[in-house]
Amino acid sequence: MTIAARAIGAGQGYIYLRIEYLYLKETLTEAITRRRESGLLGESILGKEDFSFDIDIRMGAGSYVCGEETALIQSLEGERGEPRNRPPFPVDTGFFGHPTIVNNVETFLDAALIIARGPEWFLEHGTDTSKGTKLFSISGDCERPGIYELPYGTSIHDLLKEVGAEDAKAVQIGGAAGRCVARERFDRSLGFEDLSTGGSIIVFGPETDMLAVARNFSDFFIEESCGQCTPCRIGNVKIREGITLLEEGRCSSAYLEELIKLGDTMRLVSKCGLGQTGGNAFRTIAKAFTDEILGRVPKSD
Ligand code: SF4
Repeated sequence: MTIAARAIGAGQGYIYLRIEYLYLKETLTEAITRRRESGLLGESILGKEDFSFDIDIRMGAGSYVCGEETALIQSLEGERGEPRNRPPFPVDTGFFGHPTIVNNVETFLDAALIIARGPEWFLEHGTDTSKGTKLFSISGDCERPGIYELPYGTSIHDLLKEVGAEDAKAVQIGGAAGRCVARERFDRSLGFEDLSTGGSIIVFGPETDMLAVARNFSDFFIEESCGQCTPCRIGNVKIREGITLLEEGRCSSAYLEELIKLGDTMRLVSKCGLGQTGGNAFRTIAKAFTDEILGRVPKSD
């Protein structure tokens, strides 16, 4: 963050820490204090009178949509965390009207490592389009869940081998907002030219009920939608209603098509990334597992 501040001329930075990660606050506070004592934060960093920069930690309340940069800025300002209209973009008018950049930890880390080790080191890994390595957070039905650093271009198949999940039925690439990829397409690769992702990967084992997975994601988006715009607020509810029809064996293939189109519409016209991606999991599960989710016999008590 200090390097970024030097590059753009910022005087203040904030670490936005979700309340779920409260346990990290003490460690972060100690690290910031150590850097101040070493002259790497605060007034006249490393003796340079033209460079002062400091970092504060601000706690978020645990809202998914606050991962969207304008909602995050609203929350930082003490307002309800809701996405703003863009333009203006935060780089022009951000935190309390100041030009602001919002980046994740991995980006700052990569930038610092490239400066320390040189671009050639970074370019040793990855593909022509996706350079370097990527952190993946792997969870679900696998023997070795955890955080993995792998080169861009790694196939889903190789990733599953690494984490002990070669019998997986499907994987969700990109978390709740991402897409579901079925076993037949495990040759696909993780990178900007194929499956771009923030790094969250959820593995589904052979016995997984994919409609239950879709229902779980749908409930999540209904809960997390801020409700500002209709496609997201209503669209997620309509998809959830469709999932209930599927569970009861009362959804026709024609109506399933309509629901998939609704997901497409949400992607086109929702205001922020949450609504634009809220239908992704359902759309991709419905397309890849049509036979599994259509024509169900309702469960009797
Ligand atoms: S897409 Fe959803 S989360 Fe985003 S602004 Fe609209 S209602 Fe809020």
